[in-house]
Amino acid sequence: MVIRLLLSVIVYISASALGTSATNQFCEAGIKYEESGCGLSSSSKILITGGTVVNAHQQVIADVYIEEGVVAAVKSNIKVDDDVIVLDATGKFVMPGGIDPHTHLGMDVLNTTTVDDFFTGQAAALAGGTTMHIDFVIPVNGSLSAGLKAYQKKAEDSCMDYGFHMVITKWNEDVSREMEIMVKENGINSFKFFMAYKGALMINDELLLEGFKKCKSLGALAMIHAENGDAVFEGQKRMIELGITGPEGHDLSRPAVLEAEATGRGIRLASFSNTPLYVVHVMSRDAMEEIAKARRSGQRVIGEPIVSGLVLNNSGLWDPDFTTAAKFVMSPPIRAAGHDKALQAALSAGVLQLVGTDHCSLNSTQKAFGINDFRKIPNGVNGIEERMHLVWDAMVESGQMSPSDYVRVTSTECARIFNIYPKKGAILAGSDADIIILNPNSSFKITAKSHHTNSDTNVYEGFTGKGKVEVTIAGGRIVWANGELKVVPGSGKYIRMPPFGYLFDGLDRADANYLSSLRAPVKRFKS
Ligand SMILES: [Zn+2]
Repeated sequence: MVIRLLLSVIVYISASALGTSATNQFCEAGIKYEESGCGLSSSSKILITGGTVVNAHQQVIADVYIEEGVVAAVKSNIKVDDDVIVLDATGKFVMPGGIDPHTHLGMDVLNTTTVDDFFTGQAAALAGGTTMHIDFVIPVNGSLSAGLKAYQKKAEDSCMDYGFHMVITKWNEDVSREMEIMVKENGINSFKFFMAYKGALMINDELLLEGFKKCKSLGALAMIHAENGDAVFEGQKRMIELGITGPEGHDLSRPAVLEAEATGRGIRLASFSNTPLYVVHVMSRDAMEEIAKARRSGQRVIGEPIVSGLVLNNSGLWDPDFTTAAKFVMSPPIRAAGHDKALQAALSAGVLQLVGTDHCSLNSTQKAFGINDFRKIPNGVNGIEERMHLVWDAMVESGQMSPSDYVRVTSTECARIFNIYPKKGAILAGSDADIIILNPNSSFKITAKSHHTNSDTNVYEGFTGKGKVEVTIAGGRIVWANGELKVVPGSGKYIRMPPFGYLFDGLDRADANYLSSLRAPVKRFKS
């Protein structure tokens, strides 16, 4: 609670430029600001000793030495001078900081704005062991560059590293041209298309195919929100006609079959275009099966489950208390019990590759916009702070996954897909010093009273489990230790993500094989 209060002070202060006076204000507010010297060493040299260093490819007991924000060495018995901060990690796991591939900070949604901006959302993330996220830029009136400019402004106070995906909300020549500028000049290598939200963001199959073609030519990854928007619209009408206006109507109006249909259609259109595809927030067993089938056939499809889909079920939407029920409203909906376990199994088997959150936090007052009509409840749940703990507990503590695989699904695979590995997603000499120390014998408890996001509710209220992130190091600074956040607005960097990641390797040869397999055009003679 104390930390929450302090954070709200920072948010307030951070609106002004960060001059010396602001620095003093941080000290006065009790926020430890490294360079200002209010109680903390300004050393950026850190030695982590005796821990089990876990990477996606191996785990080994070793020391990790950090200097100037990067990992300088990983080996046994590193000797250092007195000016180095030493952290003893004996009996604990030293792992790459989490990378959340799917967040919405400071986003405008249904005439309101998410309660977490870049700074507060990132501070919460750091307290939960996530050290980088990739947020979705929303175009302004269809303009990608105007959207990017707006998000650059939103991200000015960042306290951890971040990257951007770009959302495509309509299609024309300008959009197509701007996509190229985003990739070649602005470090964006992924674009999201909506198969849902009829009349707003939804694009039809013709335009989706255009988008896929453009993405492929740029070496950018196409992402889809997969729900059949026409059918969802029909389902919503049906519920309202039946007099079902509460949050349960949200679930009933968009069943898993509509998610599976769009997932399957998106996958087939991507196959037709021979381009890699990334399916965001896979929420149902049905959609997961479509991905499994495509991957078995050799297609390059990435499936991203999110924490809410992995550990929650839809029972909350039937809660008689509107505030409780409404907090679970997101799309695609959190499914009935059983889907969660199926998604966990798919994650452990490698059918699904990495875990996001779709963090989009809203207060109960904002959720109440839809008190008489579930269609007006702004969609979104929290998760940026809880992801690392919940995935550890659900997957590793339960015995479904090794620590190495945990690192892969929470960090490394995201870095590989978006082409920033091994700068991110690894603890190797030369990698960015984004590191967490997790104590497998300590436990965590989640509650809105003690969380760091700005929302007054938490969809994981009351969750407890084993495995606690005790230290977070971001960019070579200790930002979370002893239950205390020490974050600096403006210290986070924008991470440019280059095109043609590993998913594009060999596509040209596959295309050449396709062309030579056609046995056409047939040379005909006139008889
Ligand atoms: Zn989202």
